[in-house]
Amino acid sequence: MRILVTGAAGFLGSHLCDRLLSEGHEVIGMDNFITGSPDNLAHLAGNERFSFIRHDVSNFIFVPGEVDAVLHFASPASPNPTSRYGYVNLPIQTMKAGALGTHNTLGVARKYGAKYLLASTSEIYGDPLEHPQKESYWGHVDPIGVRSVYDEAKRFAEALTMAYHRFHGIDTRIVRIFNTYGPRMHLEDGRVVPNFIQQALRGEPLTVYGDGSQTRSFCYVDDLIDGIVRLLYSNEHLPVNIGNPQETSILEFAEVINRLVGNKGGIVFRPQARLEGDPQRRQPDIQRAKEILGWEPRVSLEDGLRETIAYFRYKMGLE
Ligand code: NAD
Ligand code: UDP
Repeated sequence: MRILVTGAAGFLGSHLCDRLLSEGHEVIGMDNFITGSPDNLAHLAGNERFSFIRHDVSNFIFVPGEVDAVLHFASPASPNPTSRYGYVNLPIQTMKAGALGTHNTLGVARKYGAKYLLASTSEIYGDPLEHPQKESYWGHVDPIGVRSVYDEAKRFAEALTMAYHRFHGIDTRIVRIFNTYGPRMHLEDGRVVPNFIQQALRGEPLTVYGDGSQTRSFCYVDDLIDGIVRLLYSNEHLPVNIGNPQETSILEFAEVINRLVGNKGGIVFRPQARLEGDPQRRQPDIQRAKEILGWEPRVSLEDGLRETIAYFRYKMGLE
């Protein structure tokens, strides 16, 4: 297939490009580098099946030649307001990437009769009242809260994707991605994994926002990409959760990272830093992914974190 990947210079987008190229596809990457980096694609220079277009997906998209599939991953993704990459600090761009970017990429899929896959998120469940979260859960989202620029843009994106499927007959997919980590996360991203690993490697205390009782379920990037590619090859049009159901509190997570790095800096609690609307619990129900895609995660948290720590050590110039 000839595949357009938006957000290609980002964490997930770049891994997705690698995987699609390794399967023999031709990939056109698109990105405006608002939160991504050309470094993530540098290794693809000279690959004849890869090309790149620098473009903001909020504007009309022109792709020369036929396209067989469109995977829309372009969007800021970090909630952290202390990071310049946090969507709270890019509110209009985030809403435009989710709304106009989804409209434009669906337009490309419609023009070429291409398959379409939307990168949605567990954030569409908001601060969930149902646990674990099944795809049938409608969510608990504040439409005007600080996180709403991301959550509501993704909810709109899902609705628009289903409208193109139902009304125009586009062959669409929706993946609801739960917290994913791994190499190529941006050092300044502000999400918990880059923050904790860098603090640990510097010998500093890990900054736990709130009391650390809030939970997340962390999936290693290779597992996630495998689930997404399986979804692309499937015929499933309704949303599918992809994530690792192993749930951990943020406090336990900090302790694991300190142990793996050998950090003696400990932990510091930052009650005020907790973002309004920060979900208290998050865990995917992956029954549908298991049944429809024959998928489940394989990489343990410790193995995935070791790989990720090695990457950050290298990026921080510590080896
Ligand atoms: P990322 O910030 O590393 O990558 C996003 C990429 O999109 C960046 O390269 C950025 O420059 C690009 N981008 C943003 N707006 C753009 C625009 N208007 N035009 C062109 N490019 C634009 O983040 P990520 O973690 O790789 O997230 C990728 C996608 O996966 C996002 O859609 C995000 O919502 C979704 N997602 C990620 C996670 C996760 O845990 N990593 C969880 C849920 C959903
Ligand atoms: N968090 C934290 N310390 C940090 C960064 C994040 O305790 O330095 C917490 C944050 O409050 C949230 C969880 O870790 O409860 C996950 O945050 P992240 O920014 O990774 O993304 P989210 O899962 O909220 O989208």
